[in-house]
Amino acid sequence: MPTETSHRYVTFSRNIFIPVTNICRNACGYCVYRARSYEDAYVVGTEAVLNLFRQRGAATEALFTSGERPERAAALSSLFTARLAEEGFSSLSTYTKHLCQLAIQHGLLPHCNLGVLSRKELSALKDVNASMGLMLETTAVLDAHEKSPGKDPVVRLQMIAEAGRLKIPFTTGILIGIGETQEDRIRSLERLAALHEKFGHIQEVIIQPFLPKPATVMEHASSPPFAMMKHTVRAARTILPAEIAIQVPPNLISPKELIELGASDLGGISERTIDYINPEAPWPAEEDLRRKIAPYELHERLPIYPRYIQEGWYSDRIKPLIERYADEMGLRRKGH
Ligand code: SF4
Repeated sequence: MPTETSHRYVTFSRNIFIPVTNICRNACGYCVYRARSYEDAYVVGTEAVLNLFRQRGAATEALFTSGERPERAAALSSLFTARLAEEGFSSLSTYTKHLCQLAIQHGLLPHCNLGVLSRKELSALKDVNASMGLMLETTAVLDAHEKSPGKDPVVRLQMIAEAGRLKIPFTTGILIGIGETQEDRIRSLERLAALHEKFGHIQEVIIQPFLPKPATVMEHASSPPFAMMKHTVRAARTILPAEIAIQVPPNLISPKELIELGASDLGGISERTIDYINPEAPWPAEEDLRRKIAPYELHERLPIYPRYIQEGWYSDRIKPLIERYADEMGLRRKGH
């Protein structure tokens, strides 16, 4: 039988990707997700989300992302507030909570990554989420984040700690190649390890390579060399407790060598929706992925890791779905 720590298998989850809004108060130097103008700004409507849920196929996860604190996005905040009012809501967290409830009704386990949230917002969303997330990205203060108050590492570490106090199974990660040094990467991983030691809530750490995007401040910057990714995955496996999975995104980087160095998860893969953060990078087909990572086996998991299922870190609201989808290992039950 495979076990989580034996590392003879690699996991992924099957999701539907829902970008709730692209309006964001930050302006990161590498981002193509954020709306730049009134014309390309959106708040996704309830009907459109329901349509996605109805076509969910075999997905078990509803991944909700958004720009951060859209109500504070200088030029677009009034558009955000007006669109939200049309849906009958007054804040990102209350609207997204409503969408999470609909996801649950449609057999999907929500995972929200809405940027920095307060304790009150995390608390309100906890019951309708299987897990939640926030990338730390880095503990360094970088030019890439000079127009992004929400990328202050102190603020992000505080929210990750708050999620720990609330016992929310949590996904975080670091972004590689945005101007940080190897020492910065080590420090970031050490801070995450320390938070996990205190609260025990970090289920996975994503090691994500920066990819330059056209028409961004960093469009001429280079992606991190593969050797840097290898070095970072190796360091992460040494620094992070073994129970934290290291995730590498297979639509951004070839995973096999990184798996050999300790990565054990490939994140969410969607059959129906694109990666809105990296729209130029299609998800690999599952069969392709199986071939590429052999002899490691590919196993499907839920957005909440087996350990947190076993320890009961989930609410009564999502319990019926966990019982329907999880097998005795806490992975995805076949045929459900
Ligand atoms: S990367 Fe995230 S936080 Fe930064 S500008 Fe884009 S949407 Fe906003």
